[in-house]
This record gives sequence, C-alpha cells and structure tokens, in this order.
Amino acid sequence: MCLAGFAMPADVDDIRMWRAPDHTRLVFDLSGAVDYELFTLTGPDRVVIDINDTAMRGNIDGLDFSDSPITAIRSGARDNNQLRVVLDLTAKVDPRSFTLPPNQEFGNRLVIDLYDLGPAPPASPSVANTPPPLDGKRDIVIAISAGHGGEDPGSIGYDGRIMEKNVTLAISRYLEDQLNSMPGYRPVMIRDGDYYVQLDQRPEIARRERADLFVAVHADAFRSSRANGATIYALSGDRADRENSRRVSQKENSSDLLGGVDGDITLGTFDDDVALTLVSLQMAWSMEQSLIAGTHVLQSMDGIARLRRDKVQQASLQVLNSPDIPSILVETGYLTNPGDADRLKSADYQRLMASALAQGIANYFYESPPEGTLIAWNKRNGILPGSYTVKRGDNLSEIALRFGLSLSELKRLNNLTSNTIQIGQRLTLPGNEPVRASEHMIRRGETLSEIAERYRVNLSSLRQANNISGDRIMVGQILKIPTS
Ligand SMILES: [Zn+2]
Repeated sequence: MCLAGFAMPADVDDIRMWRAPDHTRLVFDLSGAVDYELFTLTGPDRVVIDINDTAMRGNIDGLDFSDSPITAIRSGARDNNQLRVVLDLTAKVDPRSFTLPPNQEFGNRLVIDLYDLGPAPPASPSVANTPPPLDGKRDIVIAISAGHGGEDPGSIGYDGRIMEKNVTLAISRYLEDQLNSMPGYRPVMIRDGDYYVQLDQRPEIARRERADLFVAVHADAFRSSRANGATIYALSGDRADRENSRRVSQKENSSDLLGGVDGDITLGTFDDDVALTLVSLQMAWSMEQSLIAGTHVLQSMDGIARLRRDKVQQASLQVLNSPDIPSILVETGYLTNPGDADRLKSADYQRLMASALAQGIANYFYESPPEGTLIAWNKRNGILPGSYTVKRGDNLSEIALRFGLSLSELKRLNNLTSNTIQIGQRLTLPGNEPVRASEHMIRRGETLSEIAERYRVNLSSLRQANNISGDRIMVGQILKIPTS
C-alpha cells in the first residue's frame, strides 16, 4: 500500500502558453493536485518536468512557440505512472514554477515561467537610460495598467466569451494612443500583450518609469446580470499604511520613494520613525491627489458611462499600493451585464472610454501640473497650444475640455455653428490668452487660493465677489470669477 503524498492520479488536460517581454509562461491544466520535480539539462538546453501519478490526456500539438525560446514540447510515460515533459530550448533560461489550486475559471494548474537570460528586454527601460530632459519641460508620465492578462482572464462576460483581459488591453491601447497625441504626455504600458504581470510588479514598473499617475483599467463582474455601470477607486490609506511600514523596513528598496530623482533624499539616512513620517507625508499627498485625479476622470466619464457612485471610492486594492504615485483604478463597467458588455467589447466604445480617461487625466494635470513639466511651463506662461488638428475619434466638447475651454468659447473662436468637425481640421485655440471663465464649480480637493491662481485673480477680490470672508468653500458651490 502506498501512502506517500496527498496527490491522487491526475491528467494533464491541456497546456496553455503566453509570451511576455521577459519570460514565457506555460500553464498545465490538471485534473487534480500533483507532485512534480523540475530540472534543467544542457547540451542542448532543456527543461524537464517529472509529474508523479499523471498522464498526458490533452493534445498539445497546436502550441505556437514563436518569439519564445521553446522549439518543442515532448512528453512520455515513465515507470511508476510518472509523466515526463521535456521542453526543448534554443537558449538557457531561468525556470520558476508553482502550482495553483482551482478557482472559478480553472482547475488545478502547474505554472512554469521560463525567464530569459542575457540582455534585458527593451520593454521596460530603466531610469538610468532615460534621464529627464534638462530644459525643465519634461513629459508627464502616465502608467497604464491593463488589468489581468495571460492565464488570468479576469471577469468573463455574460455570454461566456468576452474576457476582461482583452477589454482592458484594448481600452489601455486606445488610452496610450490618446495620450501620445497630446503634447506634454508620455504613456507607459505596464503590459502590452496577452501576458500576466504580477500585481506587485505593476507599481514597481510605474516607479521605475517615474510615473506621475498610475491608472489601472478593469471591468467588473457580479453574480446578478443586473449590476451595471462604472466605478473609480483611489489609493486607499489602509493598504498604503501597511505598504509604508513594509517599505520602511526594507530601506534599500525605498531609497527613491521620496521623489529623490537626484538622490537628495533617501530613506536609508533616516531613523525608521523619521522615514515613516516622511513616507506618510508623501502618502497623504498621493492619496489626496489620487482622489482629485479620480474625481476628474469620474466627471469626464459621466455621460458616456453610467456611474455607480457619484464619488471616487476608496478601497484596499493591491494594485493601488504605491505610497508615492497617485493611483486610480477604473472599473469601466460590468461584463456580466449584457448592455455594458456589448458596449465594452466594441472598438468605438473602447475608444470613447479611452478618450474620457485621457480627458479626465488632462483636466487633472492642467489644474495642478507637476513642476518641471511642459504642461506646468505652458500654464505658467499662460500658453495654450496655438492650434489643434482634429484626429480620428475626436469630438468638439472633448477638445474644449482638454484645453480648459468651454464648448461655446471654442466654437466662437473658430466661427463654428454646429459641433461637426472633420479629421485633419485645424482648430484655433486662444493662444496667449489666459483661460477666462465667469463661473467656477468647486470640485473636491480644490482650495480658494488655487482657484484664484488658476483664473489669475487675486484672492481678496475672489472672496469679495462671492461674499466669502474665510477660506471655507464647499464641493459643488458655484463661484463668481471677477473679470479683473
Ligand atoms: Zn479586473
């Protein structure tokens, strides 16, 4: 009688495969839990996986090895019902492996990651390779994190076919296009293909790229098909506090946490208490900024999506764990709701969603641009771009918002009587005129002095025009902006 191990006889039902910029992932779909052993052989390079009490049932002939170091996968039964799987390779790899228990979508799995050796992939250049420009007009960097990917499909649609990982990547790519078309912005894709990037790696990539904002794109699922609409989450204190403590205890990783691009402040030189306080201050700033950015995005999504909540939600989500980078997570709708899902899988709506995100991001940064950026420089000098060429997917009100204009102002400037515009049409912008408006609705996070500065009026005349004596203002309150 054999009592060794807890694994029952199992089958390999299928092998799935994804190529990421720095590794190749293989997922063995199993009918039960397995014991296995993995080792490498050289001359030629191979990875061998011996799986106890297991048989190959699936047909693995259809796998596409292009761009991967794998040239073939062979399998054979050995003594004692052991299954040997051999991966033939063109180069040495660093193999890592682990098993996963069943979840809603899949049964037991054995995951094998073959990390490339040799030169680092160009997909994520390090900061050292891309020094910030010296003229003080750097781009604002937006890290775009398309949710899920590879063997993690995310939510599955009401029809059993739409997969969240594809919807999030499509919207993220349109967002990347949008941001690329806007002067002063540089998008960075956290993933740009059908592969998985670990949750804790995503903010790390954003940090390496010196991102000014981290945007995670997702789509929801619920057991009832009635649930619908979009939700925006902002970096939460809970998660971030725990994250702070962890980072302070690992000072070596925290050295660039305090915005010390030039290394002027590093945590390693401080006591834990001081370091934690400094990081907490940075954290308080990021959380506040996350809320403000999220609110701008929420406002620009209003009208193209039903908003489940009229406020940005705060939740302890692992992907929003950067104490130093303002971070938001956008649930674009419910794939389990037929209405939401059919929209979210259409390219037109994906593009519309992406422009709403881009517009909200641009509005946020126009209001409080980071020092040293082109957007900050333009704003300080009262410069809007002189003209704008209409691109595919643009609409007039979106362009107006992007440059901080009202729709009627933009139409008047261009002698337009309708909202119809043509691709390639050149629109005049107000040039050197500072932005003028007669009224301003207060948004969450704004202060009276910021608003005064934005409209280039002095604080006391703004107070006077609105019969305000102190600095107390309320979200939603309409302020009169004095004309001089
Ligand atoms: Zn998701």
